[in-house]
Amino acid sequence: MGFDGLNSFQIKRPYVFSGSEFLLTEAFKALPAEKMYDFWKETNNGAWGALKKNLKDHYIKVQGFQCSYCLQTIEVFHNGAWDAEHIIPRITHPQFSFEPLNICVSCKDCNSAKHDKKVVYARVKSKFSKDSDDYLICHPHFDEYSDHIRVISIAGFYMPKTIKGKNLIEMCGLLRFLFKFSGFECDISQIQKKTFELNNILQETNDPLVMSYVFASLEDLGREGRRLLRERKLVVA
Ligand SMILES: [Zn+2]
Repeated sequence: MGFDGLNSFQIKRPYVFSGSEFLLTEAFKALPAEKMYDFWKETNNGAWGALKKNLKDHYIKVQGFQCSYCLQTIEVFHNGAWDAEHIIPRITHPQFSFEPLNICVSCKDCNSAKHDKKVVYARVKSKFSKDSDDYLICHPHFDEYSDHIRVISIAGFYMPKTIKGKNLIEMCGLLRFLFKFSGFECDISQIQKKTFELNNILQETNDPLVMSYVFASLEDLGREGRRLLRERKLVVA
């Protein structure tokens, strides 16, 4: 299997409201702007709570238990394992809190790294945009992930193919996986292995965006390798 087989991802089936849910969302849209931000947090029970659960369960299912950003598979339905993620953050655009195309699920690490970072150009104001070009990152609903990011191994290496891919890698901290080795301890043999893989990528690319990512990753790995050697007193600091 080629590398790109790993990372085809795009949400094709957005959530569709039932009749009563639609009425709820209309009521939400009629709220004064200053009430909208807190509304999402304050509505965990009753009909609103059920609507939020339906949204989250829907995306867990149609995403095949995969995080929209790092593509890790977490095969648990338990609500706590997943975050309902607002692609455009609620802090800047609370009016999109219940917009199905602004919602997906993500793992907790991606969600907390992405947090309130800006994902749309300033031209997106009160009206929700379905135009991929209005977004700074590759969008789980409007973009095919593999057009923007090449996944060398899930929870391993993420190489940008486009600026939108680069923005997503940076925004969600996907480089965190560079040091997330199996087992508890960061291991020199793992650094050797990752360095080898990165060198292979470097050999086969002429893309400056990828090259600059590989060089930056090699620098990080080199630094980590030296730190481990020093820690184990294998070299003179
Ligand atoms: Zn993730």
